[in-house]
Amino acid sequence: MLVIMDLNSPRSDVEKVVEKIRSLGCTPHEIPGSSKLAIGITGQTNKLDEEYFQLMPSVQEVVRVTKKYKLVSRQMKNEDTVIEFDNTEIGSQELFICAGPCSVESRDQIHDIAGQLSEMGVKFLRAGAYKPRSSPYAFQGLKEKGLEYLAEVKVKYGLKIVTEVLNTESLPAVAQTADILQIGARNMQNFTLLVEAGTTKKPILLKRGMSATVEDLLLSAEYILAQDNYNVILCERGIRTFENSTRNTLDLNAVPVVKKHSHLPIIVDPSHGVGIWDKVPAMAMASIAAGADGLIIEVHHKPEEALSDGYQSLTPGQFKSLLEKLKELAQVVGRKIS
Ligand code: PEP
Ligand code: MN
Repeated sequence: MLVIMDLNSPRSDVEKVVEKIRSLGCTPHEIPGSSKLAIGITGQTNKLDEEYFQLMPSVQEVVRVTKKYKLVSRQMKNEDTVIEFDNTEIGSQELFICAGPCSVESRDQIHDIAGQLSEMGVKFLRAGAYKPRSSPYAFQGLKEKGLEYLAEVKVKYGLKIVTEVLNTESLPAVAQTADILQIGARNMQNFTLLVEAGTTKKPILLKRGMSATVEDLLLSAEYILAQDNYNVILCERGIRTFENSTRNTLDLNAVPVVKKHSHLPIIVDPSHGVGIWDKVPAMAMASIAAGADGLIIEVHHKPEEALSDGYQSLTPGQFKSLLEKLKELAQVVGRKIS
């Protein structure tokens, strides 16, 4: 349920509504919009009656949210969520471009790639220090050392760091270096991790599970928003289907579907989506044409030597020419890459 109030309601009126919600055993979530203040209610809302709130001072409207997910829904908040950083935004006209290797492999490797990407104007660097690998014998990431190298390039090149957190134990360390915490496909339904990561209040890039529906993705995001952390970026990264000519099937349908049902930004990872480098540019372009708010792309200076996902990584040169094309496309669809 959602209680809509005037944005300039006296604070005492807002407090009365908040108190009333708590007294009924539910949780209030204040969601300010440009002209209205919405107070989302979560918990056992089926027992609540709209009339409890309708006659309270400054209340304009009471709306029942019919979807399973509440705080992430457009019913709860109609305006697009924009996540602000000191020098950029995610979810506004500006497209979010994040690039980098699958994994941090060495100090030289991450410095080399970070340097080249920052020269191209990229603001967000991706690279995993903790890697979730299908095989226990595959490279598992440099862990703390990887975070240390990421912290170095963050300072040296002024890049914002997007890096994956695998579990609650390593969350404090990862959150110290990360500007955006990545929660990967395999952990999309690790609800304990979603809640704990949500409480850090750091922006979270939540990737769709490989067998998850869009509704599952939105319900997972709901766990984070329920911690009063609205800084969530959803990511379509391909799903498992019977098609085996590519690693995954990039479900671009998810972009307009999410846009319709949620106010959260949605980006696309075409690298994992197709799994083969030469198809990445086409699907990156298609993602932006479909209305995605940005891209996360794997870039490696020596893909043939990469310790993970080299086959789907672009070289810096290939990424640069893609970026030029994306800049042109952005203008056509009313977006920009600065
Ligand atoms: C990654 O970004 O390198 C990764 C492991 O992604 P996903 O969780 O989508 O498989
Ligand atoms: Mn990868």
